[in-house]
Amino acid sequence: MIKNLLNGSFEEKQNCCGCTACSAICPKHCITMQRDSEGFLYPVVNEKECVGCGQCERVCRIKNPVKEAEFEQKAFVVQLLDETQRRESTSGGAFTAIARYILEKNGVVYGAAYDDDLRVCHFRVCDAVELRRFRNSKYVQSFLGDAFSKVKEDLKQGRWVCFSGTPCQVEGLKSYLGRDYETLVTVDVVCRAVGSPTVFESYMKMQKKKYGDNISAILFRDKHHGYKYSNMTVRDNEGRVVYARGVESDPMLRAFFSNICDRPSCYNCLFKKRYRVSDFTIWDCFQIHDINSDMDDDKGTTNMLIHTDKGRRIFGEINSVRRYECRPEDILVPQSAMFKSVPYNFRREAFMKDFSESPSGSQTLIEYFPDSYSVKIKRIARLILVKTGMHDRVKRIYKKVKGS
Ligand SMILES: Cc1cc2nc3c(=O)[nH]c(=O)nc-3n(C[C@H](O)[C@H](O)[C@H](O)COP(=O)(O)OP(=O)(O)OC[C@H]3O[C@@H](n4cnc5c(N)ncnc54)[C@H](O)[C@@H]3O)c2cc1C
Repeated sequence: MIKNLLNGSFEEKQNCCGCTACSAICPKHCITMQRDSEGFLYPVVNEKECVGCGQCERVCRIKNPVKEAEFEQKAFVVQLLDETQRRESTSGGAFTAIARYILEKNGVVYGAAYDDDLRVCHFRVCDAVELRRFRNSKYVQSFLGDAFSKVKEDLKQGRWVCFSGTPCQVEGLKSYLGRDYETLVTVDVVCRAVGSPTVFESYMKMQKKKYGDNISAILFRDKHHGYKYSNMTVRDNEGRVVYARGVESDPMLRAFFSNICDRPSCYNCLFKKRYRVSDFTIWDCFQIHDINSDMDDDKGTTNMLIHTDKGRRIFGEINSVRRYECRPEDILVPQSAMFKSVPYNFRREAFMKDFSESPSGSQTLIEYFPDSYSVKIKRIARLILVKTGMHDRVKRIYKKVKGS
């Protein structure tokens, strides 16, 4: 029987990524996923019902990690031809191209979207219009709910299924399924980490207080000012941008990129590797000018690594993208989020404590990430650089200097 971690220490909680495989596989349905104060889900076993079969332990990919073994991979940089959908996507829209291919086969697609209360959850869609909800990264852990068992039902009925998520979610799903299905296509993102749902909910309350309840969309990576300076954006019911702040000034983005509210398991992530169990791994391509200067470089490009024959075959049949094949080494950056866990932020414990004790958590966000004079200056400087077309050049020089 797996351990009840809901009230466990930080170190104990590092042993659970919340993938739900243990709860989905339990033959007695006696494991429920429950939220801790940070909003992350942990399995809780009803010991009275448990028969000690051990399936929950065996399915766990943290207890039983997949051994990484080398195999042949194909690498591409990808841009969706549909410019509207590409703009709505985080990078080049490769995910949408794969998902649309599956829907054309009368299949279903699983991905992360907002529910009516703007919480991030996994949903199942069978219609291309609905795919829009999955586009754009949400830097918060998504609630999987009963997605794994629904995927299994769809597969048993012989339907094509595309499941997209973080690497731990994809490994969890494959472990739960326990065998290969020819009609299952899995897409994982290179994932830096996932942020606290509770922190995001407080942030959203703050935004709603400011802009009213008529918020129709929130995008962590809006290309309002181009791909390379993407913004946290809030849109109202008429689609108007009512708030747009970059990574230097939006408190939620600053909290996420300073690693102050990530899931404990993200600081020691076992799913960071090159050779994965998914069919496709996708991530941001900011260096397209170095790989293929014929492809435009400020509307978003996806790096794609294909791990399986099935993935190669499917990508060969997709005609909704511009692509350029390169060597995997051209797009793999050794120090990137594909390989390295985020470092622990030593202010995390204090932040989370202050956050839970504050009457409105958003106050803590503002206190830790204030809109100080230096932040304001950075924001104005970035906007001037974007508007004068100097942003990319200055960013490249800054990176070079920082690197050296
Ligand atoms: C939490 C997170 C962290 C990331 N960290 C990095 C990083 O450090 N470096 C990097 O290069 N790329 C990172 N990415 C990937 C990147 O943001 C893009 O998703 C990727 O470039 C693919 O872009 P796209 O335009 O092809 O598709 P997108 O429009 O981004 O769609 C991709 C898919 O991501 C899924 N998704 C979105 N949010 C979540 C979520 N919270 N949980 C599970 N699945 C989700 C959606 O279901 C969708 O299917 C991260 C993504 C996420 C979700």
